[in-house]
Amino acid sequence: MLREFTGKTSKNFPIPKTMKAWVLGNPNEIFLIDKPVEMPGKAEVLVKIDAVAICATDLDVISHGPPALIQGGLPFNKNFTPGHEYMGTVVALGPSVDEFDIGDRVTVEIHSGCGQCKRCRMGMYTSCHNYGLNYGDFDKGHRANGFTTDGGFKQFAINNINTLIKVPDDMSDEEATLVVTAGTTMYGLTELGGLIAGESLVVIGPGPIGLLGVSVAKALGAGPVILIGTRDSRLEIGKKLGADHILNIKREKDIVESVKSIVGKKGVDYVVECAGTEQALNDAIMMTNRGGKICLAAFPHDPVKINIPHMVINNIYMFGIRGEGKSATHRAMEFMKEKRFDAKLVHTHTFDLKDLPTALKYARERIDDAIKIVIKPWS
Ligand SMILES: [Zn+2]
Ligand SMILES: [Zn+2]
Repeated sequence: MLREFTGKTSKNFPIPKTMKAWVLGNPNEIFLIDKPVEMPGKAEVLVKIDAVAICATDLDVISHGPPALIQGGLPFNKNFTPGHEYMGTVVALGPSVDEFDIGDRVTVEIHSGCGQCKRCRMGMYTSCHNYGLNYGDFDKGHRANGFTTDGGFKQFAINNINTLIKVPDDMSDEEATLVVTAGTTMYGLTELGGLIAGESLVVIGPGPIGLLGVSVAKALGAGPVILIGTRDSRLEIGKKLGADHILNIKREKDIVESVKSIVGKKGVDYVVECAGTEQALNDAIMMTNRGGKICLAAFPHDPVKINIPHMVINNIYMFGIRGEGKSATHRAMEFMKEKRFDAKLVHTHTFDLKDLPTALKYARERIDDAIKIVIKPWS
């Protein structure tokens, strides 16, 4: 049932009763339907979605379910719309919202924590203890659009004001969708301690997070920054995004030795692991120097064997990093606003809303060297 709306709208931004929205049926089954446009409540705005990027996690959600959690269970056949990396225009304000104006261009971060649990109180709202508790009598106010609440493969979305970041006029819609990706690596690097200026750093895995991880690390002053991957085309983009060295693991005899030949035999200070394979995790451990730190920005689907003795003997720290906490997206946006790196380099394709299935296929199969694919919901 629609709640009674007591907020603010503008005749410049008329709001229709229904919108086009993709919903998830069975695994790997999506349908384009008409959904009612709901209006924002307290501390919320309605965003007209102008662009939404496809993330590897969307592919996981659509084919397997997790990490999406709808009404406490799998997201299938629940009228759920996936998609979480979107930006748009504020078109309605919930009651008492004065932090944003109608017409503001905004990009969004995914998580709005419950605001009352121990982790939310620490700014770790991506690790909210009430994750997914947003329904019925259990509604604790947690929202993670595209995971626990409706996401962005549609034309409008309701967002908590805490998830909004203003987009500067000279930034394109496509680029603005990348702020959450850059923000994820910003969160990882700052949770590791953040003082990485002048420290050597390796990024393993040149996906969108790894590529922007290179940029953010460089912008934070890390050096040298080394990017490791298997695809030359992606490694070349990494170079443009600031990598001092690129290493194609397929051509290196021993990747750990290759890294040490650049940074010295003691190993590298930081590793941002974005590949999520057992081999990559062990490579990360073996290339890290004593007292060094490893950021786990990806993870294998199943438990794996890693060299714990080597880690302990060498006082190597490993950090599990979830999402884009502690307002890291705002810090990432500042770098992007200042043009400290060109995030647009990872955007490769744009599709209309109706072509989402094709776009997902491009993302899944990396057709035509696809990296970041953006959907425009109004074309
Ligand atoms: Zn994502
Ligand atoms: Zn919480």
